[in-house]
Amino acid sequence: MAETCWLLKADLEAFRREDSPSKTEVGEKTAAKRFRAIDRTQMVIRPIDVEKLVEPDHKARAIWAMVNQLDMSRLEAEIKAVEGGKGRSAHDPRLLMAIWIYGYSEGINSARELARMCRYEPALQWLTGLEEVNHHTLADFRTANKDAQDEIFREVLGLLSAEGLTDLKRVMQDGTKIKAQASANSFRREDTIREHLKLAQEHIQAMGDANSEDLNQRALKARQRAIREHQQRLEQALRELQELEKQRADSDKAPRVSESDPEARVMKQSNGGFAPSYNVQICTEASNKIILAVETTQAGTDYDELMHGLDAVDANTGQTPEQMVVDGGYIKNANIEEAAERGVDLIGPVAESNPEASLKKRGISPDFYPDKFRYVEETNTLICPAEKTLTFQRSDRRDGRIEHQYRANAADCENCPFRSQCCPKNSPRMVIRKEDSENVKAFRAKMETEQAKQIYRTRAEVAETPNAWIKAKFGLRQFRLRGLLKVGMEAVWACLTYNIMQWRRLIWKPQLVSASAAAGVV
Ligand code: SF4
Repeated sequence: MAETCWLLKADLEAFRREDSPSKTEVGEKTAAKRFRAIDRTQMVIRPIDVEKLVEPDHKARAIWAMVNQLDMSRLEAEIKAVEGGKGRSAHDPRLLMAIWIYGYSEGINSARELARMCRYEPALQWLTGLEEVNHHTLADFRTANKDAQDEIFREVLGLLSAEGLTDLKRVMQDGTKIKAQASANSFRREDTIREHLKLAQEHIQAMGDANSEDLNQRALKARQRAIREHQQRLEQALRELQELEKQRADSDKAPRVSESDPEARVMKQSNGGFAPSYNVQICTEASNKIILAVETTQAGTDYDELMHGLDAVDANTGQTPEQMVVDGGYIKNANIEEAAERGVDLIGPVAESNPEASLKKRGISPDFYPDKFRYVEETNTLICPAEKTLTFQRSDRRDGRIEHQYRANAADCENCPFRSQCCPKNSPRMVIRKEDSENVKAFRAKMETEQAKQIYRTRAEVAETPNAWIKAKFGLRQFRLRGLLKVGMEAVWACLTYNIMQWRRLIWKPQLVSASAAAGVV
């Protein structure tokens, strides 16, 4: 049977050769086309000129030039290998940093992927000098030392400043939501988390002793480690719940926290949807769009982030910006007041307060909203739509404004035909007359001027450029790591990469072109 098959196969081949379209007629005869042989059994040794793996203006060279200017002493201090000592030599922190910066610039934020690429990608081969780098080494380095990373971010800023690339006259702050490594389904209430924690503890006890003589100890230890990490996340989830419980004002809803990333928060996205995320706040100077500060927070809105942004710029540069330009998400009276106290010229859209929600909740009809009550300055009283007088009670300073409280006469409201529209729930009627502070009045007047409006119009282009780079070019739409500290470090890596790429474009490349021209190299 096997022989028959071979014969049939041979006949078929002969038939194909005869009728093949790859045959060319040569007179009466036809000749088969000739192709280069593919020999996959051979062994080849090729010389590699490592220096020529990348072009002279390749970004890997710019990255290496930058990291070589940085002081790595804090990172070097952690290295145990010493000249004349035992064991393998450590990788130079400059190299590990350059690999990560290059990886982020290429949209690669996985340690495994970068380690794999070091074997074949020319720029990484050039950076490593054809040495292999283990993915554990890369992963550990990325989150090893937050203080050292912050120091390096500041040092890069110092170098950019020395090159004249930074200017603190005008700084734009903007926030961007980056998704967490947690799904919406991982959010649980306290009861469920406690139940899962109990199960995890029972599971660890039931797994037995990892130091016993049983087979497959490595697998057992790995499983124990995984469950222990899960247990730690659940314990942290309970701590986060306690924090949320303290912040919960009058909401009836019990807070929920993610079991896979307890520090992530569900935040509104730019597309209107909601997703577990972190809020990355970026302060960018306007002259060359250099990032001066990056902070990652759990805040769902930007209202409370302006002062943190100012503090971070101050910490990184030693200076307070002369002017801060922000969108409406940062404008509240308290921020206007504090910016004025710090001597910062705040530019942003004027926010109109909207008390409608609370008035509706109190059952008050629009015809009896506070603006329908007439203020009489001479007597410091209000006159209601029924022409009754509300007398002054007290004044409170709150959120950058003064709130004057007035109250109607109980008997007037009791007998008033409009009572069901004016004060259906709480009688007699109370009305708050709000008066902006001097700083808020000055801010509002400033934002009416064409000059301030013109400055505000430049905000989007400057503030949103780094956000767009980080998300679109570096691909950081979702964090790879978990927890506020680690995702914060990921955000700093991306911003550090952005600043180095700006330096390459604005300083390194033009200098290279000038040097080549001076040397007569085309
Ligand atoms: S309910 Fe009281 S405050 Fe309201 S319109 Fe009547 S008298 Fe005036």
